[in-house]
Amino acid sequence: MNQDWTLVVHGGAGIIEQGNLSPEEERSIRAALSAALEAGAAILREAGTALDAAEAAVRVLEDDPHFNAGRGSVFTFDGDIEMDAAVMDGRTRDAGAVTGVGRTRNPVSLARRVMEDSPHVLLSREGADAFSLQQGLEQAGPEWFETAERRRNLEELKSAGNDAFDVDMKYGTVGAVARDKAGHVAAATSTGGVTGKRWGRIGDSPLIGAGTYADDRAGAVSCTGSGEFFIRAVVAHEICARTRLAGEPILGAARAVIKDVGALGGTGGVIVVGPDGTGGWAFNSSGMYRGRISSESEPVVAIYGDE
Ligand code: ASP
Repeated sequence: MNQDWTLVVHGGAGIIEQGNLSPEEERSIRAALSAALEAGAAILREAGTALDAAEAAVRVLEDDPHFNAGRGSVFTFDGDIEMDAAVMDGRTRDAGAVTGVGRTRNPVSLARRVMEDSPHVLLSREGADAFSLQQGLEQAGPEWFETAERRRNLEELKSAGNDAFDVDMKYGTVGAVARDKAGHVAAATSTGGVTGKRWGRIGDSPLIGAGTYADDRAGAVSCTGSGEFFIRAVVAHEICARTRLAGEPILGAARAVIKDVGALGGTGGVIVVGPDGTGGWAFNSSGMYRGRISSESEPVVAIYGDE
């Protein structure tokens, strides 16, 4: 049955197990996922666009310090914040993305400006920060983005003598996919990347086709997980391609591609929505912060693998 509208959100996938989170943290995370669902649903109910809904949902999660995006982003090896974000509109296949930005309060909205107000798809670092300023987007200083917990995560990583980045990815990238009343789909993803990243490392999130993709002919996808593997499996586009070219249901395609990521050695998950409003997720990590709402169903929020 076609759903009038659907919204699915994620707040990251990784080693998220019962007992890892305090009851207080768990409550706050569930509340934030619910608030993100409601921010997007309010738009979709009023016949707003999938793109507006996905952006609005992601902005809520960016502003919440529990997630690794916007406020609460992880630190690089050098102690800086370098955020990545992307948006894609399935109606036109227009896309915009930024990588390594440090001054825009809501990087997802900067990605949208790249899509709508520049001739480009992907802007990086100082150039993207300058574009943000020129666009008049809300700016924020390090004191907004940085949290004591993320600082501690970096120190722990370094004192463990670990010169790799954090492979456990306990802290969630955020994303949203939506299908609106007009039948269009859109995707948005935002992240601080991985703790201890260096040398200008870029993950899958801002790469169109890898971490983010939307095409009305197939669906919309936002990924979270070990970015290096998601890039190699071109996860978001691969799911859409299987659906469009091989006629696979989008949830089946999502499960198959996550299995393939696992075969390469990667972990993480995806959220998907199809043009018929089918929405859901697939992941191979122990947990994933996630939520779904549609015109036909009540909001659902979940954290652990067995929920
Ligand atoms: N995929 C993100 C990255 O590699 C990290 C994550 O989803 O936790 O930058």
